[in-house]
Amino acid sequence: MDIAYFNGTYMPRDEIRISPDDRGFLFAEGIYEVVRWYQGFFFDMDGHLARMKRSLKETFITWPDEDKFPAIAHDLIRLNHLENLQSLVYLQVTRGAAIRSHAFPIPPVNPTVYAFAKEFTPENTGRESGVAITVREDIRWARCDIKSTALLPNTLGFQDAVSKGFSECAFVRNGMITECSHSNIFLVQKGIVHTHPESESILSGITRKNIIRLARRERIPLKEEAVALRRLSGVQEIFITNTSGEITPVVRVDNFVIGGGIPGPVTRILRERFNDQICSYKHS
Ligand code: PMP
Repeated sequence: MDIAYFNGTYMPRDEIRISPDDRGFLFAEGIYEVVRWYQGFFFDMDGHLARMKRSLKETFITWPDEDKFPAIAHDLIRLNHLENLQSLVYLQVTRGAAIRSHAFPIPPVNPTVYAFAKEFTPENTGRESGVAITVREDIRWARCDIKSTALLPNTLGFQDAVSKGFSECAFVRNGMITECSHSNIFLVQKGIVHTHPESESILSGITRKNIIRLARRERIPLKEEAVALRRLSGVQEIFITNTSGEITPVVRVDNFVIGGGIPGPVTRILRERFNDQICSYKHS
């Protein structure tokens, strides 16, 4: 039986009941966070906690227990006997339940907080040989920096990609590649790694931040600059990053083959260094 966290208590997941008046349901007025458990530790929990607090602040959602997120995540791993397994913890906070009105409830209501842990099997084939992605117009709102549960453009984009046999969907806004439906994207041009700068057009991925840090430490040239889609022919390597997939090489964008169809050396080095960083976490 899966044990989940719901508004301060741990309970069987299938016994959780959420109000139809929950503003997460009515307005997608909620934020979420995902952390990865590496059989003994969460990778960069501090980074995830800081981003979660920022998302709450930017949406004016108050969760008095926000600092308990790491403890809740650990409890869920323990209660579901996932200590020795690769797992993910998902946490979502909405503004809570109140009769439908665009204005925030007066007096404020308690937020709805839901979290669960699940075992997760890393997808290794694509990570070794590289994946194909497709491109779509970025139709998302102008605050993609908030990790909001309002993900309809992301699910539509990803579903379109999957239905056509692609592994991810990259978004393009004003001709520039921003990020993907649930990952950030890095493109290597003439030995320089490029990724869209932190802004309201992308979610600042925790993996992205760690990759940038590693590249700087390894003296791999990196620019936080967006790449125009029309410059794709000058790109030698592409990889995408997120918490569950870490670094995944991209060897094709729609019909355009990247790097001769095999993952390139910069991607490989960064992946090795990222693995080293995870191992060093384990021993710290
Ligand atoms: N961009 C978007 C739109 C995402 O949904 C995600 C995954 N949450 C990312 C980037 C990658 O973020 P992270 O590395 O923190 O998982």
